[in-house]
Amino acid sequence: MTVMTQGLHHVTAIAGAPQRNINFYITGLGLRLVKKTVNFDDPGTYHLYYGDEAGRPGSLITFFPWRGIQQGRVGAGQSTSTAFSVPAGSLGWWTEHFAALGAESRITSESSSEERLLVSDPDGLQIELVASSVTDPRDPWDSASVPAEYAIRGQHSSVLTVRHPEQTIALLTNDLGLTIVDESAGRTRLAAGDGSAGTIVDVIGSSLAPDGLGAGGTVHHIAFRVPDHATQQAWREELVGKGHQVTGILDRQYFTSIYFREPGGVLFEIATDTPGFDIDEPLLELGRSLKLPPWLEPSREQIEHSVAQITLPEENNPALGAA
Ligand code: ZN
Repeated sequence: MTVMTQGLHHVTAIAGAPQRNINFYITGLGLRLVKKTVNFDDPGTYHLYYGDEAGRPGSLITFFPWRGIQQGRVGAGQSTSTAFSVPAGSLGWWTEHFAALGAESRITSESSSEERLLVSDPDGLQIELVASSVTDPRDPWDSASVPAEYAIRGQHSSVLTVRHPEQTIALLTNDLGLTIVDESAGRTRLAAGDGSAGTIVDVIGSSLAPDGLGAGGTVHHIAFRVPDHATQQAWREELVGKGHQVTGILDRQYFTSIYFREPGGVLFEIATDTPGFDIDEPLLELGRSLKLPPWLEPSREQIEHSVAQITLPEENNPALGAA
């Protein structure tokens, strides 16, 4: 293997009504909407990107909000939980914060090295906040709804639930360059690079979980980082050479992407760090207006007419008076 990922790039999931998705991720989780665009393969539907101030790779969760989508089923063959990194000692604050918003949350792990708080988003997507004993040095988005001392630092990890974990683990190690860093209680933890938050994948083998059904409240795919287009191209050739069915390189405007399915059924993407979200609007204005790629710009009027009207909470703008 000549190419390896530096860690997670983003997770993309399926939601229902876009406004309640916006309210939960901006006001509830304190993330910033860094891009309001449409699903390039289905331009009547939004594609909403949330992350840190600039939408850096490793901070991102994105959604296709399909109005009236049926409820999916979380289960085998899926990424079953998406975890974000928060500071040690912050979970008490988060529990009260979610309760005030009417969202139930519960502590699922209280080990001395890692506490986890599970909350469902309004569509039933499983989100976890992980407070690790290892400090996460990444800067949080300075949101009015979540004080910086408690705020999300970025992605922590994704949990994959599969029937035959050894096949998924073999692909993650042989073809993506992750290494096994821990094995306990039916969970194998793999990580890229230094193993810090944002580089971690937990694989769970389950014969009892139901088959996952991809629809509302489920993860569509998880994406891994590659630095640039040339490396991505080389990596694609390597994966094809190993017999993987890999898509061509697709232009996602803010990065380019290739996709393939791992043996357990989870759709993987490999996405570039470049060019990033400030390619078509300034950092201070990220998320404010509907952005379309050049090839959809001629259809703007029709697209604006077909997508739902949504309102951004005030806190998506940089704090008043901030430098
Ligand atoms: Zn993606």
